[in-house]
Amino acid sequence: MNERTITLHKLLLWIGRSAPQSQAGIFRFDRSKPRRFTGDLQQVTFEDLAGADEAKARLQEVVDFLRSPAKYHKLGARIPRGVLLVGPPGTGKTLLARAAAGEAGVPFFSISASEFIEMFIGVGDSRVRDLFEQAKATAPGIIFIDELDAVVRRRDAGLGAVNNEREQILNQLLIEMDGFGERHELIILAATNRPDMLDPALLRPGRFDRRVTVGLPDRKDRQGILQIHTRQLRLASDVNLGLLARTTTGLSGADLANLCNEAALTAARERHEMVQMVDFEEALDRTILGANRVILLNDLERRAAAYHEAGHALVAWLTPFADPVHKVTIIPHGRALAVIEQVPSGNAYNYSRSYLLARLAVLLGGRAAEEIALDDITTGAENDLVEATVLARSMIVRWGMGSLGLMALRNEETQPLLREQPSPRRDYSEETAARIDRDIQRILQDRYQAVIKLLTDAREHLDQLVQILLHD
Ligand code: ADP
Ligand code: MG
Ligand code: ZN
Repeated sequence: MNERTITLHKLLLWIGRSAPQSQAGIFRFDRSKPRRFTGDLQQVTFEDLAGADEAKARLQEVVDFLRSPAKYHKLGARIPRGVLLVGPPGTGKTLLARAAAGEAGVPFFSISASEFIEMFIGVGDSRVRDLFEQAKATAPGIIFIDELDAVVRRRDAGLGAVNNEREQILNQLLIEMDGFGERHELIILAATNRPDMLDPALLRPGRFDRRVTVGLPDRKDRQGILQIHTRQLRLASDVNLGLLARTTTGLSGADLANLCNEAALTAARERHEMVQMVDFEEALDRTILGANRVILLNDLERRAAAYHEAGHALVAWLTPFADPVHKVTIIPHGRALAVIEQVPSGNAYNYSRSYLLARLAVLLGGRAAEEIALDDITTGAENDLVEATVLARSMIVRWGMGSLGLMALRNEETQPLLREQPSPRRDYSEETAARIDRDIQRILQDRYQAVIKLLTDAREHLDQLVQILLHD
């Protein structure tokens, strides 16, 4: 294929893909009026949701309350009003909210904030009032606000009419939530994948003060999701959901649901009696081609990523003062190929030297593990090295922890990172600058040697951890 045919091919794929989406658009148009789901609509429960165990457990409390509010009122318990579901698109946030309503057997009112704004310019705030009126009339119940970030971007984020509209809707929302009183029987669930964009006023106690994180599914959860979405399909015996789960790292629940449906459509097109493994494979090619945000790693890349993340995790585990590791995964996550999540244990304003050295060690652990276990090293450490360098520099010039003594040296570090040109605002000599560079190098080098030793001694554990990660 030459370049033009490739482009044409892509275009056709794209057109093929966009058709069902525009249908969804029509459907969603209807939805921007608050819709009410009652018993006559198909009930969804937690059974329809695979994985997300932590989120389900956290929402169970909401369900219990909605089932028997009197019990909670009698005890004088403070009931959550707003729960924020945070996670990437397609991870089942909307489904979770509906399932919570289904479990509790209460009405479910749902609006999508972005459509709301577009639909009701000028009357948005009165619509919010209507929604709450309607919901209060049938309480207990759940109100679900999708894409909350669209309505309540930080107030300074823009200008103009739309912003005015947002402001009014936001204010009305706050008024409604604050007006609940202690004995309310409505819970507001809201979904966002940009919690950082939310107006802080929304996150205060008594408003959206609970946060439930929903992440991309791991292998086990992917298998569960595939099971749910193939329940109603006629599957041929060669379909191996375990294998499919293993090869779909990085796909969301929505992607997997879509995959199952595409496989069924493919089977119909091919006039197969049942949906076969080849149909899934073809559907997979198609859906992944379309969703180019998904990065599927090949075996070598997965191995490198696994050693890298395992290196971070193991160093964190073995180093006193380091933040505890919450989770390690090699599921691609946004732009990063893999992640390790650490939960900072101390406060975020005052760090000890031991903590900072431990942090440096953890940052260098990724590269060190690659060097120890692989024949080659990768670019995976880029961000780690940037962060480690900035940290080491700060230790020396800001916090008097280097060999230059206690003199605080003003330099570009107070400015945003990664600027190309050297800062003109430097208040020390070239000679001092060179000493700083040497000191940074020394600190990093020392840490790196220590980490190499640590991981070499713990090689067995490193390999074990990698095995587990690769299994994901
Ligand atoms: P979000 O609101 O997070 O973007 P949705 O709840 O709209 O995601 O998910 C879209 C669809 O993907 C759901 O209707 C469901 O079919 C499927 N899905 C997503 N997550 C799961 C899951 N954990 N289990 C089963 N199906 C899921
Ligand atoms: Mg949704
Ligand atoms: Zn790293």
